[in-house]
Amino acid sequence: MEFDLIARHFTRTTPGAVLGVGDDCALLAPTPGMQLAVSSDMLLEGRHFSPQDSPAGIGHKSLAVNLSDLAAMGATPRWATLAIALPEENDAWLTAFTRGFFRLADLHGIELVGGDTTRGALTISITVMGEVPPGQALRRDGAQPGDDIWVSGVLGSAAMALAFRQGRLFMEQIDAARVLPALYLPTPRVELGIALRGIATSAIDISDGLLGDLGHILERSQTGARPIGARLELAALPVLPVVQAYLHEAVARDCVLAGGDDYELCFTAPADRRDAVEAAARSADVAVTRIGCITAAPGLVVIDGDGQPLPIERTGYDHFAA
Ligand code: ADP
Ligand code: MG
Repeated sequence: MEFDLIARHFTRTTPGAVLGVGDDCALLAPTPGMQLAVSSDMLLEGRHFSPQDSPAGIGHKSLAVNLSDLAAMGATPRWATLAIALPEENDAWLTAFTRGFFRLADLHGIELVGGDTTRGALTISITVMGEVPPGQALRRDGAQPGDDIWVSGVLGSAAMALAFRQGRLFMEQIDAARVLPALYLPTPRVELGIALRGIATSAIDISDGLLGDLGHILERSQTGARPIGARLELAALPVLPVVQAYLHEAVARDCVLAGGDDYELCFTAPADRRDAVEAAARSADVAVTRIGCITAAPGLVVIDGDGQPLPIERTGYDHFAA
């Protein structure tokens, strides 16, 4: 099935590549002096999306989660490859899938230059390549005690939408409609990542939940045997008003602190760079919120509205317990 199908759905002009789809390999000429940032993410039916999901939404999300990794690195998107397994040749499905995929690709100037197509259970594996000036990538290992901790956008919406869809959280339909876009149409914070070059000391995109992903920064930023920690203010965490209205429910609190699929950036920056962070956020047209600070004392502590440390229910990162 492959040849026609590749020609119809995946072959477009690629002015940013020396050679795109159609040969044994794509040929790419990185901008001289830049470093390549490369990342892959795989999405499986049943695990990352369900058969009923809109194909355009799947096309969007599968590229969005990959672009989010480039964003978290401060890299400028350039090229992507797409390996896809399809249970059958379904032109209508592929037309919608590629509409969602290419709409987001065009928004960020990333070009599909190759891939692989095969028959099998629906599986989408994308590799993205971006460019970053030497020494300016936003790595996970640069956080320092005293740094502020920031997040972009709002937290918990996607996880609440999933909890609603799975029947773990009751929500009014009108409320659910406000969080569902976060689950199906995540916005990769590409411009923000680029604007934070030279300002953020570390960054990660929140794919597995705030606490877990911040935990990765702590883990990677510890120097030698000296662990570092973080202190977060629960009241400072940015959430949609509709999410706020459900926060008396433990499930909703868990969505904000430990829910996945937000694809916001969590990053650290020195306290004397607050103005620079705010300016970067304005230039990227994204809200950012200061939610806590990196501490020399180990442990990930969340302070509630009464100034008390919150018991963290979902563990898995308790090697940071003080
Ligand atoms: P090969 O046998 O050399 O792997 P293929 O028949 O798999 O070649 O692919 C032919 C061309 O189409 C290659 O340039 C490949 O990169 C491209 N291609 C195949 N599948 C996709 C896809 N899903 N998206 C983009 N390009 C693809
Ligand atoms: Mg092939």
